[in-house]
Amino acid sequence: MSLNEFELIKRYFTRQNCRAEILQGIGDDCAVVRIPTDRELALTIDTLVAGIHFLADCAPYNLGWKSLAVNLSDLAAMGAEPAWITLALTIPHADLSWLDNFQRGLFALADQYSVELIGGDTTRGPLTITIQAHGFIPHGQALRRSGARPGDLIYVTGTLGDAVIGLDLALGRNTLITSGDRDFFLERLELPTPRIAAGIALRNLATSAIDISDGLAADLGHILNASGSGAVIHLDWLPRSAALAKLKPPWEKIISGGDDYELCFTLPPERQNLLNAAQISARCEFTLIGEVTAAPEIIWLDSNSQVVPLNNSCFLHFS
Ligand code: ADP
Ligand code: MG
Repeated sequence: MSLNEFELIKRYFTRQNCRAEILQGIGDDCAVVRIPTDRELALTIDTLVAGIHFLADCAPYNLGWKSLAVNLSDLAAMGAEPAWITLALTIPHADLSWLDNFQRGLFALADQYSVELIGGDTTRGPLTITIQAHGFIPHGQALRRSGARPGDLIYVTGTLGDAVIGLDLALGRNTLITSGDRDFFLERLELPTPRIAAGIALRNLATSAIDISDGLAADLGHILNASGSGAVIHLDWLPRSAALAKLKPPWEKIISGGDDYELCFTLPPERQNLLNAAQISARCEFTLIGEVTAAPEIIWLDSNSQVVPLNNSCFLHFS
């Protein structure tokens, strides 16, 4: 069975919109939405290209999930509550089973946050998925990268370094890992959890925040650059999953591996007592990993407080 573009959109992407702010969803030349008067609108867009951001044989369900998750992660890093998305989908041909699984993964995550798909574009070409996500932030409460100050404590959510091991596995490397751990690492790579609740809990608390998409070294580096400061990080404080701890990967791998989609944030020490309540509403753990300093560099320390010379490399598309 072959579908034309309009049948395809209707069949796989058009659903009943439940959010009251959506005045016009899929089906007209534009979507029309009403922004609540007490909110600012946060917008972000991310493109995933086959062969660059994911392996061409990636399960379409996971791809649908992940292409939304990376956008929701950006909203989380600003303290935004997700509301709507638009989807630009470029596919080589209309593979109905692929489309069905892709939209199931996408909507499985969307439904967790009452996110509605309100429009998009569908074209033929090399597999590429672009999602633009829109979210709400109460006036003046966006978590920016630029607010970190010397003396602030540096935290991360969840655990670091799992996704890069998942990538090794997806590429057929590291075959000695047991099957339970394999599933865990692959899930961390392909079905990341955007830290939306954490971002919301950190409004009015964190001085800066970012989501870790390119590795801790690179993304903490963005906070420090934007804030005109540096950091001391204790490597043995970095939160690691039980599965990762067994592998003992080199520190470089943990700090430069991408795709974790955890949050890194800074907090003035006098607000530390407020963190427990935030952690409970975030439903994930926050781990202290170091402190913001005035000197513009990252100093990595081992368990004996000795400096470890690490290469702060990360994945840069045009380097
Ligand atoms: P136009 O030619 O006016 O840009 P299209 O024919 O591209 O409109 O799209 C028709 C409708 O379907 C629009 O409301 C558009 O937003 C929506 N749409 C197209 N592709 C997608 C998609 N992949 N996901 C969601 N909505 C889509
Ligand atoms: Mg039109």
